[in-house]
Amino acid sequence: MDFPGNLFVVSAPSGAGKSSLVRALREADGRIVPSVSHTTRAPRGQETHGREYFFVDDAEFSALVEQDAFVEWAHVHGKRYGTSRQNVESLLQAGQDVLLEIDWQGALQIKRRFAQAVLTFVLPPSWGELRARLQRRGEDAPEVIEMRLENARAELAQAKNFDFVIINAVFSSALKDLQSIVHAQRMRYRCQQYIHAEVFRALNMG
Ligand code: GDP
Ligand code: ADP
Ligand code: 5GP
Repeated sequence: MDFPGNLFVVSAPSGAGKSSLVRALREADGRIVPSVSHTTRAPRGQETHGREYFFVDDAEFSALVEQDAFVEWAHVHGKRYGTSRQNVESLLQAGQDVLLEIDWQGALQIKRRFAQAVLTFVLPPSWGELRARLQRRGEDAPEVIEMRLENARAELAQAKNFDFVIINAVFSSALKDLQSIVHAQRMRYRCQQYIHAEVFRALNMG
C-alpha cells in the first residue's frame, strides 16, 4: 500500500542512543509523529502509560495479537513489544511522517509490509562505550544490562539489512545524520508533490 506520509524506522542495540536521538529529532522537527508501542515490560522510573509505551500484561498483549491489532510485534530482551496498526496506518494516510523506534525484527516486518519504509540502524562507537552508556543510564539492573549486551552481538549482525547506518559517537553529529536522512526523504518526488501540491498544479504537473 502506498501512503502519502513517510515511515521512518530507527533500531539500535540497547544503549546506543536511539531514544536520545529520536527525542532530539522530535524537539527540532514538529512534523515527526512517534508511534507509542505496547510492551509487556514494566515501566522504568519516569515512564508513563501512553507516553513512552502502553504497558500491558501478557494476557492483554496476547488478546491484541489475536485481534490482529499489531502491524508488527516481536520478543525483545525476554518481553513482547508491538506497534499498533490503527495508529500507524491512519497517521500515514493523513500524510504525517511517522517514526517507529523498534527492534530489528520489527523493522524487517515493517519493511515487508511498507516497501517505502526507511530503515536506520544506530551503532555505538565501541563495545566499551555501549556498556558505559547502559551503566550510566542507570535504568536497568546489572543482569538486565548483561543480557542487553549479549543480545547486542546478534542485533549488530542485522545492521546490514538496513538502508542507513549512523554511528553515534558525537551526539550532535549523529543528530545531523538522522536529520539528513529525514530531509532527503522529504525531497522525494512523491513527497514534494504531496506537500507542495499547489506548485505542481501551477506548473501543470498534476
Ligand atoms: P531501549 O533499548 O533502551 O530503547 O529500551 P526499550 O525497552 O525502550 O526498547 C526495547 C526494545 O524493543 C528496543 O529494541 C526497541 O526498539 C524495541 N521496541 C520498542 N517498541 C517496539 C515495537 O513496537 N515493536 C518492536 N518490534 N520493537 C519495539
Ligand atoms: P537507547 O534508546 O538506544 O537504549 P538511550 O538514548 O537511552 O539509548 O542512550 C543510552 C545512554 O547513553 C543515555 O544515558 C544517553 O544519555 C547516553 N548517550 C546517548 N548518545 C550519546 C553520545 N553520543 N555520547 C555519550 N552518551 C550518549
Ligand atoms: P526498552 O525496554 O529498553 O524500552 O526497549 C528494548 C527494545 O525494544 C528496544 O530496542 C526498542 O527499540 C524495542 N521496542 C520498543 N518498542 C517496540 C515495538 O513496538 N516493537 C518492536 N519490535 N520492538 C520494540
